[in-house]
Amino acid sequence: MEQAEIGLIGLGTMGSNLALNIAEKGHRIAVFNRTTSRTDAFKANAGELSDRIVPCHSLQELAAAIRPPRPVIIMVLAGTPVDEQIAQLREVLSANDIIIDAGNANFRDTIRRFKELESTGLTFIGMGVSGGEEGARHGPSIMVGGTEESYNRVEKVLTAISAKYKGEACSAWLGTDGAGHFVKTIHNGIEYADMQMIAEIYGVLRDGLGLNPKEIAPVFDTWNTGRLNSYLIEITAKVLNADDPKTGKPVVEIILDRAGQKGTGKWSVIEAQQLGIPATAIEAAVAARVLSSLKTEREAAEKAYGDLGLGRISGDKDALLADLELALFAGKVAAYAQGFAVMSGASQQFGWDLPMPTIAKIWRAGCIIRSQFLDTIAEAFSAEDNVANLLMTPAFIAMMKEAHPALRRVVARAAEAGLPVPALSSALAYFDAYRQGRGTSNLIQAQRDFFGAHGFERIDAEGAFHGPWGSNG
Ligand code: NDP
Repeated sequence: MEQAEIGLIGLGTMGSNLALNIAEKGHRIAVFNRTTSRTDAFKANAGELSDRIVPCHSLQELAAAIRPPRPVIIMVLAGTPVDEQIAQLREVLSANDIIIDAGNANFRDTIRRFKELESTGLTFIGMGVSGGEEGARHGPSIMVGGTEESYNRVEKVLTAISAKYKGEACSAWLGTDGAGHFVKTIHNGIEYADMQMIAEIYGVLRDGLGLNPKEIAPVFDTWNTGRLNSYLIEITAKVLNADDPKTGKPVVEIILDRAGQKGTGKWSVIEAQQLGIPATAIEAAVAARVLSSLKTEREAAEKAYGDLGLGRISGDKDALLADLELALFAGKVAAYAQGFAVMSGASQQFGWDLPMPTIAKIWRAGCIIRSQFLDTIAEAFSAEDNVANLLMTPAFIAMMKEAHPALRRVVARAAEAGLPVPALSSALAYFDAYRQGRGTSNLIQAQRDFFGAHGFERIDAEGAFHGPWGSNG
């Protein structure tokens, strides 16, 4: 029987769709899943692609079914299951074979696995895949970490299965070991911020202006034709328009306001903190999901505080909608600037030399945060070398100069009406702090010196100094 070109382990949501995508692009693929009935069902339901799928009931069978050197994609639950699969694969693979972990691994695990496999003759690639089920099936965004040579060996198939933006493949080699999974993690962090800010604007429209889902949906639909054009805005309109078959009500109204998370948002925040790079909009978004999960406490607090008499947002509706659109855009600009700044910091810290314009380019299609705006980011990075923060590029300065007044008005009015907009207000505070040449940390330095003799720098002389605190210090 003709051997397969590639193998895949894990036929869950992502793995099964990725395998069909690979088969559809003309590649024969051997597949294995821990629960073997799933493997058989997958083959049986693969329709006209079935001929290119080789179902395997053991890893020995999988290895035998693939032509060496064998590329094998692992698409299972991140964490220990990946280590288990790698350990078992080591028993059946041989030198030059390539193990590709395509799940949402913590990039620190990827660095460890990369090192562990270095001496075995096997090659390891840590690959971030974004786009959910639909992306995996028809073209995801693919972020690859490993040696450049190993990427070259799988580039053809990855290019074939990836999303395309105006003909350009949304797949790229980004750096060694954990680079791909790190970039995927920050992609998800930005995604958290994007989604949270959209939800905050929805909250202002719902609770501030008193609009129902059917009235809000066209607002997002209209915004999707302008500067906010993106997949997340598009699906928000669709979500708001959908009805629950059971009750006939808008489905969004019967969904519990408690959001889940698997960890990539939290990892983004932890890594940003480790690197000492502020990512406040992402932090606010992660914290908002945590707060959302405290449903019982929130309900008790609502009762405890009662009606604070804050009222709704009033005024000219068209002007308010224009402000909300621009405010969301300004928040997005700040959040993306933060996400890319974190990647810049990590690039230096881990010696990856991350190609920022390429990252922006491979996010333009296939992934969850795909948007027209990423094209602007790619241009901003391409126009200048060594961009430390996107907020310092001419394009971003122009955008923020135009959009910040609306963000200010929306945050202020939401605060007055008692509507939480944590990510938007964090984005605004970050912007204001970032552009403040003389901040307020002089006072913090004085306080630190007062109670802990930590010393401070002066504006008029070099060196470390102490204040005249006397016996109070
Ligand atoms: P699913 O829950 O749909 O599938 C999980 C897969 O992992 C199944 O094939 C399951 O096998 C296998 N698995 C779980 N535990 C083990 C184990 N201990 N040993 C062997 N196999 C195991 O998950 P997804 O397809 O959604 O996710 C897979 C990976 O892709 C995760 O890392 C996820 O974070 C990532 N990802 C998911 C996205 C999404 O939108 N869903 C988007 C991008 C990345 P079995 O059938 O036997 O249970």
